[in-house]
Amino acid sequence: MNYSENLEKSGEFLRLALVHMAQHNIPVDPDNYSVWYEYVAGKNKMLSNAIDEFLNQAKPISTELNRYLYQRFIADEMSALSEKMLKELRRVIQEMSKYIKNSGCEIDQHGESLEKYAIKLSAPKDYQEFSKIINSIAKETRALVKTSRTIKNNLELTQKELDILKLKLKATKEEASTDTLTGLTNRRGFEAMLIKEIESATKTKTPLCLLMADIDHFKKINDTFGHLAGDSVLRIIANTIKDYTKGKDLVSRYGGEEFMVILPDTPLKGAVTVGEKIRRFLESMNWKNKASGTSLGTITVSMGASQYKTGEPPETFIQRADKALYLSKNNGRNRVTTETMTPN
Ligand code: GH3
Ligand code: MG
Ligand code: MG
Repeated sequence: MNYSENLEKSGEFLRLALVHMAQHNIPVDPDNYSVWYEYVAGKNKMLSNAIDEFLNQAKPISTELNRYLYQRFIADEMSALSEKMLKELRRVIQEMSKYIKNSGCEIDQHGESLEKYAIKLSAPKDYQEFSKIINSIAKETRALVKTSRTIKNNLELTQKELDILKLKLKATKEEASTDTLTGLTNRRGFEAMLIKEIESATKTKTPLCLLMADIDHFKKINDTFGHLAGDSVLRIIANTIKDYTKGKDLVSRYGGEEFMVILPDTPLKGAVTVGEKIRRFLESMNWKNKASGTSLGTITVSMGASQYKTGEPPETFIQRADKALYLSKNNGRNRVTTETMTPN
């Protein structure tokens, strides 16, 4: 969410959002409000489509549905988690420095006392005093050992907390590049992977291909069977692509109903073979709505393939796959087109 509207506009959005919320009896809390603010501001296309779909079908928008819309289209778990983690990290560091400061002070004190006793020890008045000094030294030493043991224990505890934080950080990083609906790598993750694969292919002088897939007439699936059915179609297609691409191949959800497969060590011909297998399998599937049992008909995908040209930026590599995909759409969909078939 990036709200940069001017005051007048945001006042209008606020008013409109509240009108919607009142109409649907939605409690006004920040999460619910953000759903309707984004809706009236019209900036979150996916969210707007989902809400419009419910409104068009005159379906009531319950508080639960509102929560779902928030989670699905707005919640930025990543930033919430990092914020929490930063807070935790600050606490651990603060505690650690407190231990060290306190213990340092205690150690200094014990050290000073020991030094004092050592001086006294050089010229004791009598045996009684000598014995008193020895007892005091023993007491200070014990205290010193105890303090260092506490420091050690505290530092060990801190170390454990830091290890946990490290694990959490790793999970957050993975979460940031994972698409929550399909579990595939998202666009951000795809871009990072593509750069790595380009580097690797350049180094090893091996062919690298991109296969871009887009579901045909997906809007119609949403419009006819609802957004939730659309979501499960997306999940199934994601799994199918994953199943048909094993080994080093990397599958991601590039956009709404678009997928990308990075095929290392694969020439264009190989990319077409992979694409054709996926395409044929999907075309032959018998799609059914689990809840109602109604058939969703045939669902197909169009694809475009390109091969990396040494030295080119990732964008042109993607553009050529996109252009090939566009040609697949223009030529009737449900097909795989390579960049060699596109006009320059
Ligand atoms: P084409 O064959 O030309 O690709 O037509 P299309 O209908 O698939 O393409 P269009 O770009 O017109 O529509 C894409 C639709 O995909 C619209 C959008 O609401 C839907 N969509 C995108 N992401 C999601 C999602 O996460 N869930 C659901 N259910 N629908 C989504
Ligand atoms: Mg599309
Ligand atoms: Mg499409």
